[in-house]
Amino acid sequence: MYTDFKTLMADVAACTKCPLCETRTHTVFGEGSPRARIMLIGEGPGRDEDVLGRPFVGKAGQLLDKMLASIDLTRNDVYIANILKCRPPRNRDPQPSEAAACIGYLRAQAALIRPPILVCLGRIAAQYILGQEVRITRDRGVWRNVKGFDIMPTYHPAALLRNEDWKRESYKDLLAIRARYDQLLKEEHE
Ligand code: URA
Ligand code: SF4
Repeated sequence: MYTDFKTLMADVAACTKCPLCETRTHTVFGEGSPRARIMLIGEGPGRDEDVLGRPFVGKAGQLLDKMLASIDLTRNDVYIANILKCRPPRNRDPQPSEAAACIGYLRAQAALIRPPILVCLGRIAAQYILGQEVRITRDRGVWRNVKGFDIMPTYHPAALLRNEDWKRESYKDLLAIRARYDQLLKEEHE
């Protein structure tokens, strides 16, 4: 149990709980508002993220910024983190043992921030968050409520870069996320 970000961040920066610590340049903790109502969860750092130590700063990150802007949000309104804090070599999928070693940090981030909405970007994030097999073309766009979090799986921006045809559905999901967010704001002012 972590009671503040300081110790959690220090533990991640020094972590050697899985072999990815040997090949990383920087850990990528995550960033955004500590009071965010929406937490976006990706898979793990890519090359640009590993170099800079920040989440979603490469091509996919640029698209993620545009996706947020399309529903009138910025990075400062949300919190962005990943299942893995260290880059898998050549961006391969996380191994289950690596995800198991790392996911406690993400849980600690979620426990500190308590965002009512979790957005899983892509199949890998959705599988580890929901604890079940996911097919993103089938399972995206549907809210699940788990442990008090409203959880929405949707396309990863890197997938949208490869397949433009998915952008329509992605935007539908973003509008649903915005609607849930607006509903939360309204409830807070009641
Ligand atoms: N892809 C991810 O899943 N996470 C990042 O931080 C960058 C790219
Ligand atoms: Fe630690 Fe996670 Fe990095 Fe593995 S991926 S070394 S568990 S921070």
